[in-house]
Amino acid sequence: MRTIDVQASSHDYSIHIGSGLRLALKSYISMDYSKILIMTDENVANIYLDDVLGQFSEKEILKVIIPAGESSKSIEIFYSTHTKAIEFGLDRSSLIIALGGGVVGDLAGFIASTYMRGIDYIQMPTTILAHDSSVGGKVAINHELGKNLIGSFYPPKLVLYDIDTLHTLPTREIRSGYAEIIKEAMLAKQSNLNEILSTTISDIPNEKLMQDLELGIKIKAAIVEEDEKERGTRKHLNLGHTLGHAIEAVLGYGKITHGEAVGIGLLFAVYVSEKYFSKKILFSQLLSWLKKNHYPLNIVNSLTPTALVDKMKTDKKNVHNKIHMVLLEAIGQPTVHSFEDNKILDYIQSFFD
Ligand code: ADP
Ligand code: ZN
Repeated sequence: MRTIDVQASSHDYSIHIGSGLRLALKSYISMDYSKILIMTDENVANIYLDDVLGQFSEKEILKVIIPAGESSKSIEIFYSTHTKAIEFGLDRSSLIIALGGGVVGDLAGFIASTYMRGIDYIQMPTTILAHDSSVGGKVAINHELGKNLIGSFYPPKLVLYDIDTLHTLPTREIRSGYAEIIKEAMLAKQSNLNEILSTTISDIPNEKLMQDLELGIKIKAAIVEEDEKERGTRKHLNLGHTLGHAIEAVLGYGKITHGEAVGIGLLFAVYVSEKYFSKKILFSQLLSWLKKNHYPLNIVNSLTPTALVDKMKTDKKNVHNKIHMVLLEAIGQPTVHSFEDNKILDYIQSFFD
């Protein structure tokens, strides 16, 4: 098992990564919570919910099982869960457990942050991508005008990451999570980037997966500890997301996973970096890794560059109407740059060629 300790301004917490941890949750809970609300989605519930519930035979537990997918991060499900929690008698000394991927984690975390002005919650991520959302305390739901627009900073009390649960993930979801691990490795000076780029991700042994997750989490934790509220260096975590978010938005959510879009976005960020700084950084290695792992690169043929630029302009991370992009001067040396729309359009057009 690996343990990473994270410091947040409100409290410190630990992230434990290991085999079979879902079956040991109870031994990690030190407080005597009055009641428990456990939130999960229908897919994860089918496979793992009983394993977790089995440990709490004597506690009163409210199960909230939401439909899988991004559309569950809605104000309606947020509100109806509050209603269920109030009726159930969840109080200030109760606990919320989030068992699932980023959708469950974001929604359950945001509910925990607002229920009676905030109660404790524990994250039990079941996707590789959720390693990212389980560090840094960002929790949110979506507004119909944009993703994650309603939210807060509210770190969990504990993250329990059972890597055995990752073996039932669909291949697309493995791909999705690994793009974010690659991103983290690109941001750090000392990292396992070359090693990851030499592997095929579909059949990664537990030990290697645990190592990659641990490193990704450590890199992200170091950044968010330095800049919890995203005033400076936390922006670097947006590497690959300028184009990635635009692709997701133009295609419509669900057509491509977040990480698949970020994978293409990372390649674009490296492409622009190599042009901008006139030197080779990583383009050809990253391209072959993405191809080898079947990232849907061909999808760019169905996208109109002007539509992507229009989406980029509405990104909440922009300032003064210019498009902000994180570039790499070298591996481990990210910098933020702003561009006029036309410049970005040129880059996208030549990147797609
Ligand atoms: P993320 O944002 O972390 O990618 P989501 O919450 O959107 O995660 O989950 C992605 C999809 O994978 C959902 O359909 C979810 O039900 C499913 N899923 C999550 N964890 C597992 C797992 N361990 N095994 C199988 N399917 C899973
Ligand atoms: Zn991301």
